[in-house]
Amino acid sequence: MATLSEYPAANIRSGSPTEAMPIELDRLSHNYGDRLALDNLSFAVQPAEIFGLLGPNGSGKTTLFRILSTLMVPSGGVARIQGFDVAREPNRARQQTGIVFQARSLDLKLTVAENLKHQGHLYGLRGETLKTRSEEVLRRVGLSDRAKDYVETLSGGMQRRVELAKGLIHSPAVLLLDEPSTGLDPGARRDMWQYLRTLRDQEGVSILVTTHLMEEAEHCDRLAILNRGNLVALGSPAQLKSAIGGDVVLFETASAEAARSLAERMGVHFGVQPNVMGSTVRLERPEGHRLVTAVVEAFPGEVDGISVARPSLEDVFIQRTGHRFWTDAEEK
Ligand code: ADP
Repeated sequence: MATLSEYPAANIRSGSPTEAMPIELDRLSHNYGDRLALDNLSFAVQPAEIFGLLGPNGSGKTTLFRILSTLMVPSGGVARIQGFDVAREPNRARQQTGIVFQARSLDLKLTVAENLKHQGHLYGLRGETLKTRSEEVLRRVGLSDRAKDYVETLSGGMQRRVELAKGLIHSPAVLLLDEPSTGLDPGARRDMWQYLRTLRDQEGVSILVTTHLMEEAEHCDRLAILNRGNLVALGSPAQLKSAIGGDVVLFETASAEAARSLAERMGVHFGVQPNVMGSTVRLERPEGHRLVTAVVEAFPGEVDGISVARPSLEDVFIQRTGHRFWTDAEEK
């Protein structure tokens, strides 16, 4: 099998089938023994978009990330990067892809520039080309003045930016980032999203981000929401939220039993079909405040608390799966 360095840097973006999507899944499945981790996924990431893969723990994000990174071969279906099948042409797919893993991959005892140099060598970059490209990516992530510093002297946010620079050294068309905000403070998170938007807008890079954080998902142009290996929603955050009819109304009751009983009687009385989640009765409805008044009058003393809000991404998840994104044990 050919090694990465056998593909000259000059050809990195050429040679892919014309009109190929940056990332394309076609009935992609994966199982570990008898556990199905990805179930028949089909969707595509468009050129120059920031695409989020949002799902709770165990939904299959890491499995998909590993398949796209060519670290694992899927059990069924096909995943393509810039038209290259990641299972059959892993080296060509990898040339098109920059990967930033969640775990640190930098050598702390080397300088920033040395880390980039080693990464460049892996992709067949050398000499002036490598030097120019290193300077370019460091400028891109705002670290030009830190090139000669040892990585161990940089803050966590800066180290993450060096990881990003490393992923970009070979000018990939596609960037994969696994939970990129992990360990970053709010300021560093904001900066990182700004870099990602600049990359998308100025270099046309297509970016796939895995995340289990709703607020992170809100930054993406489009999202695929996964639950237990299934695609449960696909669209922009605004589209997904506006597909929920009107307001989300929550009625807090004294117990799970009280909530079940209230939901049943609300169904009979108002012809609505609420979800029951623990001691909460939840439903989606235009002009939710009108229903609130009617319910409180019809069932006096049964409701301990009420909220009426615009739908969130969590509401999209609940609507599509019938359960909460976070289990109580995981609640942040
Ligand atoms: P996520 O990254 O969204 O938390 P994963 O892709 O890690 O999800 O896991 C998807 C499913 O596959 C889960 O049910 C998980 O327990 C299972 N799984 C993941 N890795 C392995 C493995 N190496 N062996 C067996 N089952 C696994």
